[in-house]
Amino acid sequence: MDNDSYDQCQAQPPEAFTGLDLKSPSESAGGIPAVISSLKHAFGEMGVVRSFSTLNQMNQKGGFDCMSCAWPDPDGERSHLGEYCENGAKAVADEATTKKVTPEFFAQHSIAELSQQSDFWLNKQGRLTHPMVLKQGASHYEPIAWDEAFALLAQELKALDSPHEALFYTSGRTSNEAAFLYQLFVRMFGTNNLPDCSNMCHESSGTALIETIGIGKGTVTLEDFDKAQAIIVIGQNPGTNHPRMLTALQQAKRHGAKIITINPLPEAGLIRFKYPQEFAGIVGKGTALTDVFLQVRINGDVAVLKGLMKGIVEANALDYEFINAKTEGFGEFIEALCSASWDEIVTNSGVAKSEIQQAVQILCKSTATITCWAMGLTQHKNAVATIQEIVNLALLQGNIGRPGAGLCPVRGHSNVQGDRTMGIWEKPKPQFLDALKREFHFEPPREHGFDTVEAIKAMHEGRATVFFAMGGNFLSATPDTEFTAAALRRCKLTAHVATKLNRSHLITGKQALILPCLGRTEVDVQARGAQFVSTENSMGVVQSSQGANKAASEYLLSEPMIVAKLAQAVLGNRSSMNWDEFVADYDHIRAAIERTIPGFENYNARVRQPGGFYLPNGPREGHFPTPSGKAHFTVHPIPSHELQNGELVMMTIRSHDQFNTTIYGLDDRYRGIFNERRVVMMNVRDIDELGFSAGEVVDLVGVYNGETRIAHKFIIVAYDIPRRCCATYFPEANVLVPIDSVAEKSNTPVSKYVVIRLRRDAGC
Ligand code: SF4
Repeated sequence: MDNDSYDQCQAQPPEAFTGLDLKSPSESAGGIPAVISSLKHAFGEMGVVRSFSTLNQMNQKGGFDCMSCAWPDPDGERSHLGEYCENGAKAVADEATTKKVTPEFFAQHSIAELSQQSDFWLNKQGRLTHPMVLKQGASHYEPIAWDEAFALLAQELKALDSPHEALFYTSGRTSNEAAFLYQLFVRMFGTNNLPDCSNMCHESSGTALIETIGIGKGTVTLEDFDKAQAIIVIGQNPGTNHPRMLTALQQAKRHGAKIITINPLPEAGLIRFKYPQEFAGIVGKGTALTDVFLQVRINGDVAVLKGLMKGIVEANALDYEFINAKTEGFGEFIEALCSASWDEIVTNSGVAKSEIQQAVQILCKSTATITCWAMGLTQHKNAVATIQEIVNLALLQGNIGRPGAGLCPVRGHSNVQGDRTMGIWEKPKPQFLDALKREFHFEPPREHGFDTVEAIKAMHEGRATVFFAMGGNFLSATPDTEFTAAALRRCKLTAHVATKLNRSHLITGKQALILPCLGRTEVDVQARGAQFVSTENSMGVVQSSQGANKAASEYLLSEPMIVAKLAQAVLGNRSSMNWDEFVADYDHIRAAIERTIPGFENYNARVRQPGGFYLPNGPREGHFPTPSGKAHFTVHPIPSHELQNGELVMMTIRSHDQFNTTIYGLDDRYRGIFNERRVVMMNVRDIDELGFSAGEVVDLVGVYNGETRIAHKFIIVAYDIPRRCCATYFPEANVLVPIDSVAEKSNTPVSKYVVIRLRRDAGC
């Protein structure tokens, strides 16, 4: 295969339809269907015995941490029936599958052939068993010895004119130990080019929170949900993306909390929850969760938040003592809030004043309110501003640093927060680099590196030519699929540490490596015996994770071992570090973390305590680590949404059979959409007014800065969604998200606000 033929590999999933079947959307989540789905996936991938033995260790003290989302586990007793949800079961089944992708598999299938398959099919093939190389001009991957793979990486990295021409991406599954070693190696190599998946998800939250409360993390614990009197869930679909959060919401309801949901789509998980571990959850109606649902238009969040705050101010339900003692900027804020008219709020939120007032009544009565959010807020142009309005709302009523109250950005990947704590960041703080210098006796680079969007552009322009990914599916997770594919193809070498085959392994540089690693469910034995790793969940709890299953193949290496071998091969005599010692016993890595990163005192002892330990969190404890020691009110305009005739605002979302870019199945059970992913969900009146019909096949056309992007062949599905708004699944619709459309300050791709038109599919 010559170099041009790499373009034959399809960067986007195939456009073939799989057979849409529509039912009514569910009015509840969990219950028997969730149990059946969990067991179907588990038994299908692992068999009965392996399923029970593996799932029994999941999220248990002393077991392994779920590799899916970052929702925390209870501090106290954990359920012996199973401390996991349907999506956790799917994630485990996916990793602990008995199916294998061997060198024979790669010999049978060229990368061009593989790229014609769907993401679902690629993932279904099983666990990668051997390190593989795609040589320049070759059409097939072939096996390579580990030492040769590291030698190839070292050769290409050492041949660069500057270390800044290499990119080291991290996905949020990577453990604390692997992440710490990885960033250390990368900085010893000489660059801060450490883009990560956080750049595409909660970067906006981190940016917003650091500026206003002094820490880029949430402030609540799981226990706070038991003490909350009101909970706002905004821009989040926990029923699919963080299902065990529904148990916390159910508990909160039983303790008397009221729940306000703000979202463009009504999601089953927020309507009613049937906890499958209770008799009533199996045979009864379950627990109604949402008390007030505000069906906001896409990006109407700032407007609706202003409405809530205006209502609270008009009812004089402010906590003046807190405002005076702990905040600054209140005068300017209140002046701007008062100047926002109800008309402006209603027009731009798409929510009636009377509905907003129902939510205001709940908030006025509450002395402990939690606000939770996720990607529905973080992937907008004004995402940082929106999240800062959530902070304003909390500050108005003193809802930070009080039991049952606080801010709760819900992280999507199990250790995405921990990786950032470990230094996976393209913009490291000087204090962190000083600590590395002190501990490891080298001069870390001070120049900021590339985030994800900048990394793609650097590859596209030939400024970066070696791409290394610690996990993830970079191509499918990132925006502007064809642009990103062209960027990857320009590289001299692309390399992926992975457990399963994905599309990023098929859209490659001139040469490519697949480096298979151990999964969370597997035993990790090193020179000094079996090791465990640790992770940090969404609420700042650091806990151990240790698998018990035999490795899928004798050729797998752990992620810390891969980093150590890479560092030895690349740095050679430049590094006086004993990398072998680090990986012989991960206690050595944790001891180094303890000496470098505040909050990890006595790490090795505390992480061995059942359930782990909490990292320090100033705002949770009532003090704000900002320069002034106070939290900041901020002022932001209400964005208006003027669309031309025929234009719709599209947001990309996940289906229920999906975790990030991993596709477990073709159903979106709660939304009633089965066996098809190429759908566009639209308001029935928009379908009619634009002259289309439900079931029709259309192309989605976006024009941004004069450039046209087209996503071909989507089936129109009539859905309960505000006027002029529509929703599609990613990664299928990522092709429409322009690389230059990013959030202010955080540079996060704007995947939740893409202006499109519909075009009759030419092939129909
Ligand atoms: S809620 Fe998240 S972390 Fe917990 S089991 Fe489900 S997917 Fe895993």
